[in-house]
Order: sequence, then C-alpha cells, then structure tokens
Amino acid sequence: MCGIVGAVGFISPKEYVFKGLKMLDYRGYDSAGIAYFHSGIKIYKDVGSVEHLLEIVPEDISADIMIGHTRWATHGAPTKLNTHPHLSFNQRICLVHNGVIDNYKEIKKFLLDKHYSFYGETDSEVIANLLEYYYLENNDVIETIKKAMSIIKGSYAITFFTDDIKDTLFVLKNASPLVIGLGKGFNLVASDASPMIEQTDEFIELDDLEFGYITKKEVKIFNKNGDEIKKEPIHKDIELISHDLKGYPHYMIKEIEEIPQTVNRIISNYFQKGKYQFDPELIKDLQESDHIIFIACGTSYHAGLVGGRYFEKYDKSASRFIASEWAFHPTYPGQKPFIIMISQSGETADLIHCLKIIKKHNLKNLIITNTGGSTLDRNCMYSLLLHSGVEVSVASTKAYVAQVTLLAMLAASLDKDIKVVDDLRQSLDVVYDIRDHYKPLIMKVGEEIKDKKSLFFLGRSFDYFLSLEASLKLKEISYIHSEAIPGGELKHGPIALIEKGIPVIVFITDPDTASSMRGNIEEVKTRGARVYTIATKSLSRPEDTIVVEDYAYYLSSVAISSIAFYLAYYVALAKGLNVDKPRNLAKSVTVE
Ligand code: GLU
Repeated sequence: MCGIVGAVGFISPKEYVFKGLKMLDYRGYDSAGIAYFHSGIKIYKDVGSVEHLLEIVPEDISADIMIGHTRWATHGAPTKLNTHPHLSFNQRICLVHNGVIDNYKEIKKFLLDKHYSFYGETDSEVIANLLEYYYLENNDVIETIKKAMSIIKGSYAITFFTDDIKDTLFVLKNASPLVIGLGKGFNLVASDASPMIEQTDEFIELDDLEFGYITKKEVKIFNKNGDEIKKEPIHKDIELISHDLKGYPHYMIKEIEEIPQTVNRIISNYFQKGKYQFDPELIKDLQESDHIIFIACGTSYHAGLVGGRYFEKYDKSASRFIASEWAFHPTYPGQKPFIIMISQSGETADLIHCLKIIKKHNLKNLIITNTGGSTLDRNCMYSLLLHSGVEVSVASTKAYVAQVTLLAMLAASLDKDIKVVDDLRQSLDVVYDIRDHYKPLIMKVGEEIKDKKSLFFLGRSFDYFLSLEASLKLKEISYIHSEAIPGGELKHGPIALIEKGIPVIVFITDPDTASSMRGNIEEVKTRGARVYTIATKSLSRPEDTIVVEDYAYYLSSVAISSIAFYLAYYVALAKGLNVDKPRNLAKSVTVE
C-alpha cells in the first residue's frame, strides 16, 4: 500500500526515487508520481505502474531534490488528478502523503471560505493547501507545520518542499511510518527503510507528532511544540528484496513452492542441538502470563486462530482478536495477559494502532513478522522473525505457513515438547507430494469452479481454520465469493444457501471430527452441492477428490494449505486475472 520516497542532494535522485518506488511496489498501489525542483516545481504522475511513470518522465532529469509516491486511493478515485504529488493552489507547496486525514472536510471548508479551490478529491491535496495557507501568512515553514499539525487529525506520513527553499525536504508524521536515511552529502526519507538500504544502514525513525527537515548536510527533528529534539540513529541491516522469479511465471506459485524451505528455515533458526532457541526472557514471560491474546488481520489472523489452539494445548488460555476490532474495544482477559501480534509486513496500520494501546497499558508483547527493521519489529518488546524471504505476491502463502510453524514451535517450547519439530518435518513430505503429484488434479478442480459465482469451504477445528484461509485466498485472487463454515454450523444458517451445483470443498483430516464431516457432506450433497473432498489416507473414502498421506492432524495449515493456495492460483490463472496483484488489495496495509 502507499509508499513515499524522497531524496536531497543525492547523486542521482531520479535513480534512487524510481528504484525506491519499485522496491515499495510489492505493497500494492494504483497510481504513482514524482516531483522535483528544476526552474520551478515539476510534477509527473499518472494512474498505473511505476514502469509507466518512468515512460512519461523526461530522460534527463537533473534535480537535487525529489519526492515520489505510490498511491493506494482512500479518498477520491484512482485518477491522474488525485495521484500524488499534490501542488497547492498558489503552487507554493508540493507534497506526498500516506494515510488518512479524518477532518479533511472541515479543513477543506475552511480553505474554501478563504477562496481556495481544489482540482481533486483527496484529503492530501487539502493538507498541501493548509500548509500553503499558513506559509503565506507567516513565511516560516517550521511555524507552518506546527500550526498545521495542531489542526490535522488522522494518520499521515508527509514529505513536501516549497517553491522557494530549494534544498530542503520537510517531513511530518502521525500514525503512519516515516523513516529518514542518513547519508554523506545526501539524506533520504521513505515510508519504510527498505528503499534506502542500498544507500545507508543508518536511520532515524520519526515518532508520532514529530516533524523536521532534511537537507543534504543536516537533519533536524522537532516535537509538536516546535522544540528541537536529538534522536539517536538506529543501525539496521535489512534484507534486500529479491525480485527474481527464478523461472516461475508468477511470484505466487514461486512462493507456494518455497513453503518447505520456509518451514526448514524456521526450524533451523529456532531449534538447534535438540533444543528450542527462543529468547529465555520471552519464554519466561509467556510462561508467567495467564492469558495469551492474539491480535492480527487477514491471513495473519487466521494463523493466530491456529496459534491460539497451540497455546491452549499447553494449558495457556488464549483469545484471538481482529486488530481493527480490538483497537476500538480493547479487552485484556486474565491477570497477566501477554499479547502476540502477527504481521507479515510489520507495517500493518491496524496493529500499529493496537501497539500504542498495548504500550499505554504496559502489556508484555511480541510481534511475529517477516520484516526485520519494520515499525513493529522495532517497537515491540519482543520480535520473532519468520525468515521466509520476501513475499512479493499480494496473496500471502509461505508467510502464513511460516507463522503457523513458528507458533507451533513457540507454544511447544513452553513445555519443551520437541515432538512438534518431528511432526513439522514429517508434514513436509505431504507438501512435497502435493507439489509433485497433485497439481494437475487441483488445476482440474480449478477449471470446474472458475465460473461459479459462489462456493463454500467446510472443516472443523484445525481444518476450519484452514478453510478460512483457503476461502480468503480464493476470494482475494479469483474474485469468487467464498465462505468458510465450521461443519457443525452449517445447519444453523448457511445450509439455506446450498443449491444444485454449488461447489463445497471439504477438509477431512482430523480423526475426532471426520465422521461428523462425513455427515455434513451428506447434508450438502442431498441438496445438490458439488462436493470436493480433501482427506488424509486413514480417514479417506474411495470417492474423495484428493487423498494425502497422514500427518499430525494439528498441522493442516502447514501440510495441506498448499492445496488451497494452488487452487486459488489456478482459478485466477484460468480466469486470466493478475495473480500477484489482485484488484483493490495491497501487500502491506498501511492505512486503517
Ligand atoms: N488518503 C490519500 C489519498 O487517498 C493517501 C492514500 C495513500 O496513503 O496512498 O490520496
């Protein structure tokens, strides 16, 4: 989702800004633009990709200062006019913004009353004009930012320059990440550290309601009262994003096929010489807590559902919350709760919001993330990295399996239960088997369901959690309406939707619930559903669609999730859709 890059004094701002925008590309966006200063403010922007933007900018830009943006529209359609950078009414301020301004309507009205007019619908253009309004009044940018920040409500990471101070980028931030990269003879800014890692490993992270400026020689940061503050740079080695498809046609299938490596990497990172290798302080805090609270969104939430069960297995009670729900109604069951947050990107705005509440209440917390150096990695009390390598495809696959794998090991480490590691290794045989033998069959199922309007996944217990993820994956990239239903819940409502020919995909891998699932199959078949079953060998019947070798049933999300991922992939492919970049979705959800 939305990204910012900016550079001052860099040897080739254009190269940095475009490379930077490309590195933020994986987050998903709908339009992109750049602005720089060269005998006046120059802006190039359009709907579409960074590659397209590159085609429309002049070959030979020479500029000492440049900003760039990838927009994920929140206010105003993805049109050229609404694309960032935005220029204020009197062309004094040029700005890019990530986030959402809650009170932009009031501010817009204030400015309309002052005879400002607007070319687009974004909240960001309103802020460019608010800054200009005060700048014209006081001719002092620091005072201007201070004044504007006392008015603006919402989330923002903003960088801007003016038409008369040609060597300075100004920055301000609240509830949206903004990081400054320190260089020699240049300084950089970006919405996360990743676009800057080829140039520097020294960063200053802005905290909420801080602002400042960068020139090629200096960086100055102020608090909201305008007092200058000293901030220690942090050093971070961040993994370079690999955009190598390694011969695969799409990142999604490449990443599905990296699942075994991912699981093995987690095992070798967190289990050595027969022992779990987690931070002893973390384990102690988990052991001493009386309740584990999982908070996450989307796919990571589904991993949290599984993770909760794992902790319950070791006598820890657990609750699971969707971050955007918890943020507005935080509850803390237990006397000594411990919070586990899960975020593939480490930049999920909903979770960053939750972290503020968690910190205010001094609650112990852990982030499980795939992104070292991300906002959540830096700011949580404990962090466990997934070491999955970058996931480029918007639809998460290997990172989900990594989350579940890590949670299985973390929970087991509380009881030093090392059998889990053997179970994980054994489950990989099933993953390989699916990869090597079942893809044609899954593709055939994909062909059969690709034109359906709606379908259902059924499962119980761990298979229900997997069903939720399977269903999300299918809707994300194939745009087929899909719902996951716990087998037992079918008769309490959803069965009303079962009609002739509707596909129902059923997981049967748990010995305790297999016979109930068979009952559910009869119920939907009777009503005309086209049923596809995925079963483990010992629970299978001759009519099952896919039968895999047995594995430790609590590891469904590791062993057989690839069936669901391949299915979503093949359906999207058969429909001719953009598998890696589905419409309206972003990899890193940086707005609430
Ligand atoms: N709210 C702004 C817009 O819709 C910024 C969106 C973003 O963060 O990309 O233009």
